Amino acid sequence: MTTPAPHIDRDRLAAARAWAEERYHACDVCAERCLVNRHAGELGVCGLPVDARVYKEYLHLGEEARLVPSHTIYLSGCNFRCAFCSDDAQVRAPLAHGVNVPPAALARRIAERRAQGARNVNFVGGLPDVNVLYILRVLERCPPDTAVVWNTNLWTTPEAIATLTGVVWTWLVDFKFGNDRCAEKLAGARDYLRTITELLPLAAGAGAVLIRHLLMPGHLDCCTRPVLDWLAANLPEIPVNVMTGYHPYRMVSGRGPMARALPAAERELALATLGAQRFADLLIDGTEYRLIGSGSAS
Ligand code: SF4
Repeated sequence: MTTPAPHIDRDRLAAARAWAEERYHACDVCAERCLVNRHAGELGVCGLPVDARVYKEYLHLGEEARLVPSHTIYLSGCNFRCAFCSDDAQVRAPLAHGVNVPPAALARRIAERRAQGARNVNFVGGLPDVNVLYILRVLERCPPDTAVVWNTNLWTTPEAIATLTGVVWTWLVDFKFGNDRCAEKLAGARDYLRTITELLPLAAGAGAVLIRHLLMPGHLDCCTRPVLDWLAANLPEIPVNVMTGYHPYRMVSGRGPMARALPAAERELALATLGAQRFADLLIDGTEYRLIGSGSAS
């Protein structure tokens, strides 16, 4: 699959900014649709008013090989509450972390990182979707050939995807759960599968897409298999990155399989059964998975 050249359409960017400004009055820019007035300081699920807080930024060398070096910018706040989140504090208390960086200052930083070798600017956190207005204000100050990576759980809306078409270059999407029970239990997301399987094809039509799926201990049959089966059946041309580096973070003090790292045997079983030949562009931990014969890999 050919990846389109990075390009920010100025008219679409202006329209997207106007859309976000308006939607924040009764916020429905993500799938939570809280309808709070963020301009008046009301807080929804993400806990964010209008301004964003940047808690980290650097040239990331650990993203997918085709994206690095990636200028990764971490914005606090999210609409999920993943039990195994690596940045749980910044998600649960977004206003207590990071600093308020004026859009012009962050745009200058993006230019500096680009001069240092960044191939793209990668908005994450936390989550870009709940910080959309701030990001658009930043991008207004960036050149049109900026490659925008939207590092998201895709817990968003069809309207948001349509609005960001022509602004976002690559949708870097976490497809985490293969059923609604795990999604609600582990992330607090309801009606997950229907929502994400409706939105993924829309994102695929709105720019480049790269999908990530994290192998979670004990979730091969309930999550990994259904996720990969759906992708193979519905979006087989889209790059898929299967990630094996699960870390329990705050679940480490709990019980059950998710309180520990992914066992090597489970990793091998997952890779042996994922059906690599069903995908046109499969990555394992960010690098290309090369088939040797049928079903095995290097
Ligand atoms: S961005 Fe925040 S306030 Fe707006 S709908 Fe999503 S979670 Fe709710």
